[in-house]
Amino acid sequence: MEVKVFHLPLLLTHPVRKMRKPAASSPQPKNFLVIRSFLLLLLSCIAAKLSLCFSNIPSSLLTLSLDGHLNFDEVQHVAKDFGNQYQLLPLAVLHPKTVTDIAITIKHIGQMGPHSEITVAARGHGHSLQGQAQAYRGVVVNMKCLRSPIMQFHGGKSPYVDVSAGELWINILHESMKYGLAPKSWTDYLHLTVGGTLSNAGISGQAFRHGPQISNVHQLEVITGKGDVVKCSENQNEDLFHSVLGGLGQFGIIAQARISLEPAPDKVKWIRMLYSDFNIFTRDQEYLIASENTFDYIEGFVIINRTGLLNNWRSSFSPQDPLQASQFESDGQTLFCLEVAKYFNMGQTDTINEEVERLLSPLNYISSTLFLSEVSYIDFLDRVHVSEVKLRSKGLWEVPHPWLNLLIPRSKIHRFAEGVFGNILTDTSNGPILIYPVNKSKWDNRTSVVIPEEDIFYLVAFLSSAVPSSTGTGGLDHILYQNKRILDFCESAHLGVKQYLPHYTRQEDWKAHFGPRWEAFVRRKSAYDPLRILAPGQRIFQKAVPFS
Ligand code: FAD
Repeated sequence: MEVKVFHLPLLLTHPVRKMRKPAASSPQPKNFLVIRSFLLLLLSCIAAKLSLCFSNIPSSLLTLSLDGHLNFDEVQHVAKDFGNQYQLLPLAVLHPKTVTDIAITIKHIGQMGPHSEITVAARGHGHSLQGQAQAYRGVVVNMKCLRSPIMQFHGGKSPYVDVSAGELWINILHESMKYGLAPKSWTDYLHLTVGGTLSNAGISGQAFRHGPQISNVHQLEVITGKGDVVKCSENQNEDLFHSVLGGLGQFGIIAQARISLEPAPDKVKWIRMLYSDFNIFTRDQEYLIASENTFDYIEGFVIINRTGLLNNWRSSFSPQDPLQASQFESDGQTLFCLEVAKYFNMGQTDTINEEVERLLSPLNYISSTLFLSEVSYIDFLDRVHVSEVKLRSKGLWEVPHPWLNLLIPRSKIHRFAEGVFGNILTDTSNGPILIYPVNKSKWDNRTSVVIPEEDIFYLVAFLSSAVPSSTGTGGLDHILYQNKRILDFCESAHLGVKQYLPHYTRQEDWKAHFGPRWEAFVRRKSAYDPLRILAPGQRIFQKAVPFS
């Protein structure tokens, strides 16, 4: 297990001193002497602290003329993330007010030359898993400070919104709903920034139809690793545009994005049903994602050795047939839950039930296990936040999250399921395991994201939470060991699996990840960030080490 903790500046910013209280009867001059020596000591401590702190900070950085500011003191909060396993302290946090602030800072660091170790990481909402938005002794750019442009909506036949890349998707949802519009493609959780998800892909149950979020962007404004501010799109600087999408922050910092919108529905029929046969489950999933007229959202998850499963759902889902559902025993079996959603508007309430019935009729789920719910569109999209609030209240949100996300070719998904579900993994008590297919035709192979070479591939996401300091099956070490066993199995069985939100620490593993696309990735890096300043937390390139 690799856990990196660098706490030096913590010590420097918190000098702790205990003073003995002078006796009340002490004569005044002695009091004066004590106070004077205390003040001298305090001043020398402050002077020592300043000189220690600033000795690491290039003086030129202190004098940059910015609309926002660089903070050299409060840096601890950007040295952690959702994964809760890596803590890399930066030198400074940039709170930019303008795109120019970021450009000036990057240009300046570039001018320090290849031998300065200072790097720059954009930080969206810090929901990375392994320190990807951190920069050890570098500058972290707090993208959420960049509030301009304020969201600008454009209607017409192909509506879109221009947003700052530090904007959270949840805010875009709320604002766009005021115009009866919404983005087409989502992630399951919306408290993530535009720049953060576009640097990966942004996948959820709408991706089978619309592609990932990176397939739904018309234009970007990017600050490259050279400090140039460049507008790019399909038709303008198209190589930079495609490089940055899914580019793991390697080629530029996204400052603005133009995101495609569609009319937003009012409500959602949200449906879950169970399967005990993996073949039938995947056949139905694949049938649904291939159909023209189908659900608007298609996902699924695996349940291994769970008891009381249906009780957990009862608060939000009602069984279609309560009597039959109450007789269904989930205990011990490996089950597969198909989760689908159909959007509708208020005017369609009479016909939507018939429509849903028609879409469900060809499916082969266990008939007693059909569960339905009806929620607003916003509540549906923001569903994970409800769990976040509950987990936070129990202190279970800020725990280590050793997640593993895999993209698996369709032809290998059965071999994968055989080897992993119920075998390497004997229960799902550490967190959900999502599994759903997407259509490759909706992905653009000019972007930087790496996906399997088949027309259909599955996202399988092991979303584990570790119990802090546990040494048992819920502990971090055990979960990391299980993840490694899954990855080893994929490799030895030659499944052609690609990691999503990839994490490697050696360049040879990155090369294997990119495969034949490695050379193009390196070429793009040398074109847009030749000094390898950007996104060091991905550990793909190291500053001042030659390309290989
Ligand atoms: P950060 O963690 O801040 O940054 C991520 C990476 O992008 C870093 O390398 C950073 O340097 C870089 N970066 C950030 N902003 C910019 C920018 N403006 N320009 C260039 N580079 C930038 N992903 C999915 O696809 N589908 C899901 O359903 C999904 N669900 C999730 C649920 C939860 C609860 C969590 C915690 C994560 C989920 N993710 C999902 C993963 C998520 O999309 C990524 O972790 C994403 O990077 C987080 O966004 P962020 O704003 O927190 O980015």
